[in-house]
Amino acid sequence: MNMISPRFGENMPRRQQSLSHYRPDFDMDMVQRLLGRRRRRHMTRTTGKRLTTYRRPVLDRLRPRVTWKVYDITACTGDSIALQNGGNTARLGSRKMAASLKGADKLVCFVATIGAGIDKMIEAFGAKGSIADAYVIDALASGAIENTAQRFQDDFIHRLSRRSYVAGLRFSPGYCDWSIGEQNTLFSLLDCENIGVSLSDTALMNPRKSISAVFGLYDPKRAPRNLDYNPCSRCGKGDCIARRSSGTAATPAKQHHNEQ
Ligand code: SF4
Repeated sequence: MNMISPRFGENMPRRQQSLSHYRPDFDMDMVQRLLGRRRRRHMTRTTGKRLTTYRRPVLDRLRPRVTWKVYDITACTGDSIALQNGGNTARLGSRKMAASLKGADKLVCFVATIGAGIDKMIEAFGAKGSIADAYVIDALASGAIENTAQRFQDDFIHRLSRRSYVAGLRFSPGYCDWSIGEQNTLFSLLDCENIGVSLSDTALMNPRKSISAVFGLYDPKRAPRNLDYNPCSRCGKGDCIARRSSGTAATPAKQHHNEQ
């Protein structure tokens, strides 16, 4: 079985690489939540049947790939993070992300995708009016791209533990106070062409089921005590769809797919 395996050299991986070979899978908890499961509520039987019907065909269409690069953080001010990009400086603006990245040495930037085949499948079912089927397939695809991004991040962190770095929370452009327009800055830091992901004029990703994100790396000796500081825990925005539960490193359901 081929898993996501960044081939780290002796040093921190700075060079961008693409991953095209690992066994696709789903975050089924997320899929079921998207399809209506709640603490005291189950999915309908019809939806459950559709889930069983489409799980395999969706799996067969997944082409998960990830590209990433690690940048040095040169400054982390009140409302932005500065990265060293060759002779230039790239800035990412988010007050809440800057607060969470205080003390981080490096930023891992990445884009993950499950390929264009699944978008075509969803469109085909939508075009023939099978909206309920398209909806279930869409939820499965969201669970698949989340699984891809989370496995990449988990694997990266697992390998880093042997190299004396610890990692923080994941952030994505377009959520919380990080502008979707900064998708362009993030893409300028990565070679997304080699995994087939592009940006529209409105900064949405194509294929649609893609995730762009960053997470910080800290020297354990200098890492803040509240490394898993969750800005949501002190935020009063009660209706926020991107709110994460305390202590989780993952971004919430809506944050995992490229829908605004
Ligand atoms: S609740 Fe929403 S707006 Fe508030 S910090 Fe969390 S993601 Fe940001």
